[in-house]
Amino acid sequence: MATLTKSKLTSQETMQLEDKHGAHNYHPLPVVLAKGEGVFVWDIEGKKYYDFLSAYSAVNQGHCHPKIINTLKEQAEILTLTSRAFFNNVLGVYEKFVTEYFGFDKVLPMNTGAEGVETAIKISRKYAYEKRGIPENEAKIIVCENNFHGRTTTVISFSNDEDARKSFGPYTPGFVSVPYNDLEALEAQLKEENIAGFLVEPIQGEAGVFVPDEGYLSKAAALCKKYGVLFIADEIQTGIARTGKLLACDHENVKPDMLILGKAISGGVYPVSAVLTNNEIMGVIKPGQHGSTFGGNPLGSKVAIAALEVVKEENLAENAERLGVIFRDRMNKFIESSDLVKLVRGKGLLNAVVINDTPDSSTAWDICVALKDNGLLAKPTHGNIIRFAPPLVMTEEQLHECCDIIEKTITNFKK
Ligand SMILES: *Cc1c(COP(=O)(O)O)cnc(C)c1O
Repeated sequence: MATLTKSKLTSQETMQLEDKHGAHNYHPLPVVLAKGEGVFVWDIEGKKYYDFLSAYSAVNQGHCHPKIINTLKEQAEILTLTSRAFFNNVLGVYEKFVTEYFGFDKVLPMNTGAEGVETAIKISRKYAYEKRGIPENEAKIIVCENNFHGRTTTVISFSNDEDARKSFGPYTPGFVSVPYNDLEALEAQLKEENIAGFLVEPIQGEAGVFVPDEGYLSKAAALCKKYGVLFIADEIQTGIARTGKLLACDHENVKPDMLILGKAISGGVYPVSAVLTNNEIMGVIKPGQHGSTFGGNPLGSKVAIAALEVVKEENLAENAERLGVIFRDRMNKFIESSDLVKLVRGKGLLNAVVINDTPDSSTAWDICVALKDNGLLAKPTHGNIIRFAPPLVMTEEQLHECCDIIEKTITNFKK
C-alpha cells in the first residue's frame, strides 16, 4: 500500500483510500479523474474520456473554462469572503447582473442547490402568512412524486425515494405530493386550503429525465395563478442552457414566481446558488431572518458573472438545442436495430436512454462500465436509465464520435 507522500497514487490506491477513510454515501463508477478540459476528463493513468454527466449539469460551460478560471484566480488574490456583516464591492454588481440576466427584481444568494430550495420554501411560507392570510404554521407546499430537490432533512421529507428518506425521520410537515405531469391532480390540491406554493422541476432529471407533456408547465403556472399559489421552479439541473433554452421554463414561455438556480450558475467552479423573485415576495425577508456565511461572497459572485457571460458569449443554449436534436435522432435510429435500448427522451442536451431490463438489473451499470472502457463516462439513474448530459461546449463532430462510441458499446454488449 502506497503512502500519501508518494508523488502519484494509482487509481486503485486512490479508490482504496476513499473506501477506507470516506463515508460510503456514493457508489461511483471505478474511474479516478485527475484532470478536465472542455468536454474531456482524464484519469490518473492518463486515459481520456468524454464526460457525459457534466457533474450533474454543473459544468455546462466545460471543464476548467479559461474565462471562469481566470476570474476565480484574479478574485481569489483580492478578496474571497467578508460575510454579510459588511458590504463587499462585488455582490451588488452581481445582483444587478443576475437579476437583469434572468428578468427578476431581486436575488437571494446561497451556495448549494439544497440551500436554494430551502430558501424558496422559507420565503413562500413567510409570504403565505404575511401577505396571503394563511394561518401561521398551516402553509402547505405541493410537490411532485419522484422529485429530487436535494438532501437536507426538510427536502428529503417530501421525497418518495426510500434510499433518500428512510431512517432520516422525523420528517418536516407541510408538504403534499401529486403525480408529476398530472394537471387534474394538481388542480385538486390547489383547491385545498392553505396552499402556499407549487415546487416543480420543469424536467425531472434525477428521476430519469422525465419530460412532461407539452403545455404542462404553462397550464400548471396558469392554475397556480388562478388559485393565488406561488409557482416555484427548481431549475438547478435544467437551467443555464442545458435543455436548449436559458431556462427549461422558457420552452413554454413560463415565468415562475420564484426561480431556484445552482450547479452551472458557477460553471462547476465554486458552489453558488440563487433564488430569484419579485420585490413583493422577496420583501418578506428582513435582516436576521435568513442567510449564510458564504452566500453572496465576492469570489462566488465574480465566478457566477463569468460563468453566465460564457453561456451567452458561446451561444450554449442554441448549441444544446441543435446537438440535442442530432443526439435523439441518432439514438432513435439506433433503437430500431437494438433490443437493449427501449427509448430515448430529453430536451437539448439533457437526455436519457431507457435500457430494456428491469430497474433492479445491473445492465445499465454494466453498460456504463463498458462505455467507460471505450472512453465515455455516464452514470445510470434509477436502475435501468442512463442519463447523457455532456458539457454544452461540445461540437457536432464530437457528438457524432460520442454517438459512435455509445452505439458500438451497446451493440457489442453481452449481458
Ligand atoms: C442537484 C439538484 C439539487 C441539489 O443541489 P445540491 O447543490 O446538490 O444541493 C436540487 N434540485 C435539483 C433539481 C438538482 O438537480
